[in-house]
Amino acid sequence: MFNKILIANRGEIACRVMETARAMGVKTVAVYSDADRAAKHVAMADESFHIGSGPSPADSYLLGEEIIAAALHNGAQAIHPGYGFLSENPEFVDAVEAAGLVFIGPSADAIRKMGLKDAAKALMEEAGVPVVPGYHGKNQDPEHLAREAEVIGYPVLIKAVAGGGGKGMRLVENPTGFAEALKSAQSEATTAFGNPDVLIEKYIQQPRHIEVQVFGDGNQAVHLFERDCSLQRRHQKVIEEAPAPGMTEEMRAAMGQAAVRAAEAIGYKGAGTVEFIVDGSDGLRSDGFWFMEMNTRLQVEHPVTEMITGVDLVEWQLRVAAGEPLPKQQHELSITGHAFEARLYAEDVPKGFLPATGTLTHLTFPDSCRGDSGVRAGDTISPWYDPMIAKVIVHGPTRAVALSRLSQALAQTQVAGTVTNLAFLGALAGHDGFAAGDVDTGLIARDLDQLVQAPEVKLEHKAAAGMQALGLMDLDWEAGFSLWSKLRRSVQLSYQGELVEATVEVDGPEYQTWEFAGHPDHLISVCKIAGHWVLGGDRLPPVAQSGQTITVFDGYGHQFEVIDPLDRASAAGGDMNVVEAPMPGLVKAVFAEPGQAVKEGDRLAILEAMKMEHSLLAARDGVIAEILAQAGDQVESGAALVRLEEV
Ligand code: ADP
Repeated sequence: MFNKILIANRGEIACRVMETARAMGVKTVAVYSDADRAAKHVAMADESFHIGSGPSPADSYLLGEEIIAAALHNGAQAIHPGYGFLSENPEFVDAVEAAGLVFIGPSADAIRKMGLKDAAKALMEEAGVPVVPGYHGKNQDPEHLAREAEVIGYPVLIKAVAGGGGKGMRLVENPTGFAEALKSAQSEATTAFGNPDVLIEKYIQQPRHIEVQVFGDGNQAVHLFERDCSLQRRHQKVIEEAPAPGMTEEMRAAMGQAAVRAAEAIGYKGAGTVEFIVDGSDGLRSDGFWFMEMNTRLQVEHPVTEMITGVDLVEWQLRVAAGEPLPKQQHELSITGHAFEARLYAEDVPKGFLPATGTLTHLTFPDSCRGDSGVRAGDTISPWYDPMIAKVIVHGPTRAVALSRLSQALAQTQVAGTVTNLAFLGALAGHDGFAAGDVDTGLIARDLDQLVQAPEVKLEHKAAAGMQALGLMDLDWEAGFSLWSKLRRSVQLSYQGELVEATVEVDGPEYQTWEFAGHPDHLISVCKIAGHWVLGGDRLPPVAQSGQTITVFDGYGHQFEVIDPLDRASAAGGDMNVVEAPMPGLVKAVFAEPGQAVKEGDRLAILEAMKMEHSLLAARDGVIAEILAQAGDQVESGAALVRLEEV
C-alpha cells in the first residue's frame, strides 16, 4: 500500500478520499488554489501544497504539471484525481506515469476509448452491449445528419460527441426544428469542448437514467449493482438512489453483465460507471436499456452504492491501484436495503436554480445521515467552483424507510448564510410519484411549480426569531432583570423585505406571550418545559444568529434580519436635536461634552440593552448643548441622553 498520496481535487470529493486514506493509514497531500487557502480539504490533509497563479480551475486544479511536481516534492507515490478537473484526462494520466507515479484510476488508453461518445458507442456495439439506436458516424454534413434523424425517427436527441454535463445536447421534436437545433448544439459544443461533432440518437420516451457501478483490475471486472439517477433537472442529477425502483433480478443481471462486458472490453482498472438510458414507459424490461456512456472515474453519487453493498469504493481504488487483486468476486457482492443521496447546492431555486455564493454562517447535519461535504460553517461558497455544499446520504432496510429517513434528514439539516436548494430537495423527497417509485427524467420539470414553492413562514417562526433578537432564549434573570415584574419589549424584524413587528410580555424566565402587529387576536405563548421552549405543544425550532441575521431552522430555514431600532429612529426622521435611548437600558458610556462640535454619525454614547451594546450616533453635524445622562444610569425607552444646540 502507498504511504502517501496526493489528491488532485478540492471540496467534497477531496475530503471523501482523505477520510478513507486516513482510515487506511495512508498520508494525504492536498493541493489548493488561491481561493482555497483556508478550505476544509486543506485542513484535513496531512500536508498541503499551493498551486497555480489564481483561483480559476484553469490557473489551479487543471495544472497537471504543477500537481505532479507537488506530488514529487511532497513524496507522494500516487495521485487520486477525484471527479471533474483532471480525472478523465488521458494526457494527465500519461504524465503522471511518466513521472514514476501511480494514477489512481484507469489507464490513459481506457479513458481515451470512452472519451468520445461516438467512438465509445461503436466499441460497445462490437462488445455486444446494447446502444441507443442512432447515428454515430463521422459524416457531419448537416443534410446527412438530417436524413439520419429521419431514419431514426423523431423525436431525436442531438449530442456533442465530446459532451458532458448536458452541454451540447438538444432535443428535436420534428424535422422543422432540426437545422437550428443542430447549429446551436454545435456552437455550444465548440465553446465548451473545442469539438463541434455531434451524434444523433433516438429520444427515449419517459426515460430513466440507470447506471451500473463497475470495478476492474485491468483484466477482470465486477459490478456493484445499479443506481437510479432519474431525478434530474436540465440533465443534472438531483437525487440518486440504489437499487433502482422496480428493478427485476433478470434486468439487473442483464445490465450488470452488459456493464462488466463494457469494462472488460477496454481492460478497465479502478472504479467506473456505465450509464444506461432505460425506457420507463412500460415498466422495466430486460431488452429496454441502452448504453449511453461510461464515466471513467468515481462518481458524485458513489455513496449510495457504498451504503447498499458495504464496500468502501475509495478503499478499493487505493488497493487496486497499489497492485492488489479485486477485493471481492461477483458472487461475494450483494445488496442490503436501499439508499438515497440528495445534492445540497447553494442555488436560488425560484430564480431558475441560479448558482449562489456566500459565507456559510452555520452548517450541521443530523446524526441520522451521512453528510459528505467539502465545507464547514464559516467557509465561503466562491464563484470559482461548483456550488455544491454537501451530499445528504441515508440508508434504510426498505425504500420507504430510506425515503422517510431522507425527508427527516433534510428537515433537520441546518444551513445558513446562503440560499440553498434544501426546501426543493425536501419537496422532492415528499413527492407522491417519487415515493411510489414512478421516476423518470421528466418528473422534476413536470411538477416544477409544486416543487419550488417556498415553505410558508409561520408566526411561530417569527416568535422564535424575535426571542433570539431580544436575547430572550436564555434569560439571565437574576443578573439582567428585576425579579418577577413583567417585562414588555418590542422588536422589528424583516422577512424577505417585509416588516415584522411584535411585542412580547415576559412573564418570568419561563413564560412569554407574543403579539404581532396585524394579528392582534393571535397571541403566541411560549413556555419552557424541562429545559426546552415549547410552543403549542411543539418544541421551538433551533435558531442560529450571525450578526443581524437570524435563521430559524424549520421549513428548511427561514431567514430574518434584525432591524436595529437606531436605524429605524433615524430613518423615521426623529428629533434631529436629541439623541434618545431607543429602548430601556443601561448607559455604558457618554463620549461628548457640552460645547463640543460633532459630525453626523459620530458616536456620542453607548447603551447596553437586551445583552447587546448599541452605539448612539449624532443625527447631524452640530454642537453639544447638554448631556442628560451619565455612565451607569438606567434609562427608559425614549429618554433624552444628549441634546444638540438648535440651529
Ligand atoms: P452528458 O454526458 O452531457 O451528461 P448523457 O449522454 O450522459 O450526457 O445524457 C445526460 C442525460 O440526458 C441522461 O441522464 C438522460 O436524462 C438524458 N438523455 C440522454 N440520452 C437520451 C436519450 N437517447 N433519450 C432520452 N433522454 C436521454
